[in-house]
Amino acid sequence: MIDNATLLIGIAFSGAALVLALVIGWLNSRAEIYLIHGATGIGLVVLALGALGVRGDTYSVLSLLIPFPTLLAGIAYVYSGSRLFNHKPARPALFVGAAAIITTAIPLLLGLSGLGTLMLNLCAAIILALCGVEFWRGREDARTAMAANAIIYGLVAASFLACAIVLLVEGQWVLDAPPDNLAEDINSIMSLVGLTGIGAITLTLHHARAARRHRMEANTDALTGVLNRRALFRRFSEDAPATGLAVIMFDLDHFKQINDHLGHAHGDMVLMRFADILRDELRHSDIIARLGGEEFCAILPGRDRDSAGQVAERIRRAFDDLALPIGSEKKTATVSAGLATAGKDETFSSVLSRADAALYKAKQAGRNQVHIAPFRLVA
Ligand code: GH3
Ligand code: MG
Ligand code: MG
Repeated sequence: MIDNATLLIGIAFSGAALVLALVIGWLNSRAEIYLIHGATGIGLVVLALGALGVRGDTYSVLSLLIPFPTLLAGIAYVYSGSRLFNHKPARPALFVGAAAIITTAIPLLLGLSGLGTLMLNLCAAIILALCGVEFWRGREDARTAMAANAIIYGLVAASFLACAIVLLVEGQWVLDAPPDNLAEDINSIMSLVGLTGIGAITLTLHHARAARRHRMEANTDALTGVLNRRALFRRFSEDAPATGLAVIMFDLDHFKQINDHLGHAHGDMVLMRFADILRDELRHSDIIARLGGEEFCAILPGRDRDSAGQVAERIRRAFDDLALPIGSEKKTATVSAGLATAGKDETFSSVLSRADAALYKAKQAGRNQVHIAPFRLVA
């Protein structure tokens, strides 16, 4: 068996490498603050374990007063990182850490090194279990990796708890040498395995999250947040059957004038307001895309011609009601729409072009109106 001090130093080295990896991850995406909390936490753990490892066999209260609180602060930072990962505030984790440090420091200050060690193990077990709960609860995304992280945290927590129980059962309130028992050996090994495993999984989760964000950004129109043209056509290829779909094409009226009179930034604001209306008026299952410029497309699965026509009319009216100025002749911004519903065996590109033709008719007829395409004539 390797002795405990060697194991502790091993943990410190693998932890230091992990800190470096987390900091590099953060340098590449600065918004991911949880990486910095994780790195700070593991950094503190490494410092504490390094100090305990080189301390040798002395076990005076003085030799514990720095490493124990440092270790708990480190674990609390790891916990705040796992909370931030799940988009929760970090602060409660730091309160938990402070409470743990006080609980551990009091017996140490009273000269009860054994009770202090027991409290350290107990508090570490609780905070690590809380980390596990955090990952378990957040496992909707990246299920396997999140669950694996949760389980490893749980096992490391259990190994700390075992150390606490041994001290409790043996009633060792004062120790003059480091506790030496099977629970301590398992705890050292579990900590090394846990640190490496959790580190590797956390980096994997970080990369998976970054990849998902890039995918989402590639499919989203940056200005309005709706799908972009490419995403729409990836979802509905040109010759895909469109059965059951209602397609509405929208084009803002006299939009060029808005830009010309009130500036491009104002034009952008108008586009965002229109996208907000689309989101408000459409169902979650409907698809909204910006095809380019001031042209939008809404796809409503399972809507018949009449109800889709009512939806289009509601959107037109909602935009008209905003009464956004165009900048000339006291006119306000309006939108024209063309609607087509898919006939039997019709392709997506065919419905789309019939909706587009209907939109053209709405423009010709004076704008600010919805035109509904006639049923498709089957040859
Ligand atoms: P109509 O009623 O016939 O649709 O006239 P219109 O002025 O809306 O149509 P036109 O196609 O002539 O002008 C569209 C304008 O949209 C021209 C272009 O500068 C502007 N545009 C395209 N993309 C953006 C954008 O992202 N932001 C802003 N502010 N303007 C844009
Ligand atoms: Mg246009
Ligand atoms: Mg237009």
